[in-house]
Amino acid sequence: MKSLPSILVLAATLTLASCSSTLTSQSEDAHAPTSVSPAEALASLKAGNERYVSEHHARHDNPSHLRAVLAKGQQPFAVVLGCSDSRTAPEIIFDQQLGSLFVCRVAGNVTDPVVLGSIEYAVEHLHSPLIVVLGHSKCGAVTAALAGGHAEGNIGCLLHEVHLGKNLPADKDAKLDTAIASNATHHERMLTSRSPVIRNLVSEGKVRVASGVYSLDSGKVAWQ
Ligand SMILES: [Zn+2]
Repeated sequence: MKSLPSILVLAATLTLASCSSTLTSQSEDAHAPTSVSPAEALASLKAGNERYVSEHHARHDNPSHLRAVLAKGQQPFAVVLGCSDSRTAPEIIFDQQLGSLFVCRVAGNVTDPVVLGSIEYAVEHLHSPLIVVLGHSKCGAVTAALAGGHAEGNIGCLLHEVHLGKNLPADKDAKLDTAIASNATHHERMLTSRSPVIRNLVSEGKVRVASGVYSLDSGKVAWQ
């Protein structure tokens, strides 16, 4: 019997398939450990982004029916640490429905103990098999960090966490793009270096970490 996340991945992957009746029959599995592998979860996100870009969106489950199923429990098949930027909502750009993604959003998609605590909850207690750090083009937080990173109040603390990388190109646009990619890769690494919980799950093969950069212009995610 498939668990709930299997059904959600299936629903997100098959453009024309309706899984309403299946969700109803599987609702008793809402608290079972996920059966989605890290590789399957990543493939599902990639397929969802391709649907979003090509405008062949999946036919998602009826919201009220899905709410009733999810009220019994959640098993998001992926964690996304993304930027707070209003143009980068993971559920939309990966064409996923309610309950599929566990999303942490903070300007600059940076890791700190509070963010890592949220992610640890998802992988340890909800058994999400994939964590994606998602940067995006024209990121204001990275732009501000490149400009010097000096800001009043808590914004300064946030910018301090943005990692620009070294040997940046001289060209202004290329420099920003390189810094955005570097920042996403850096915080992908921080997932395992700053969190023993995530590190252990990755070493056991139960969780995979990945990073990518979303293009505001094309809608595509460039995986790193
Ligand atoms: Zn941003």
